[in-house]
Amino acid sequence: MNTASASRLEAEAILVESGARKRMAFRFSPPTIRALVPARSCGTYLLLDGASPVYVGRSDVCLRTRLATHNHRLHATHVLWEIAQTPTGAFLLEAYWFHHHALQLNQIHPARPAGSLDICPFCDPCVDKAIQNAFNYPA
Ligand SMILES: [Zn+2]
Repeated sequence: MNTASASRLEAEAILVESGARKRMAFRFSPPTIRALVPARSCGTYLLLDGASPVYVGRSDVCLRTRLATHNHRLHATHVLWEIAQTPTGAFLLEAYWFHHHALQLNQIHPARPAGSLDICPFCDPCVDKAIQNAFNYPA
């Protein structure tokens, strides 16, 4: 990415969380997705309306394609994402964000990866409390 492109993208970025968990979200547009999201990577994304999270999802195959064709493109202004090493890792982050944000556009719980027997650890209140204690996350 050249300097002019980087400056333009920075102007379209917003800080969506404060404190120790700062994250940058970028304008949810096809040029931004093509420039910043690697192809053929699995990962998890959070769609935002301004700085407010409205939808969480993931792709186990190609995060760039999923975001470029997303059916909520017109309902979100910004997006942030995290590349995962495995579909299970993407699922766990998706589940975490699903349980820890009030997401107006998510109607159903995230599905586990195809062929996986993994369950959502955040549906178990004991596990969730243990994770909060271990990492000192706010409830
Ligand atoms: Zn759950």
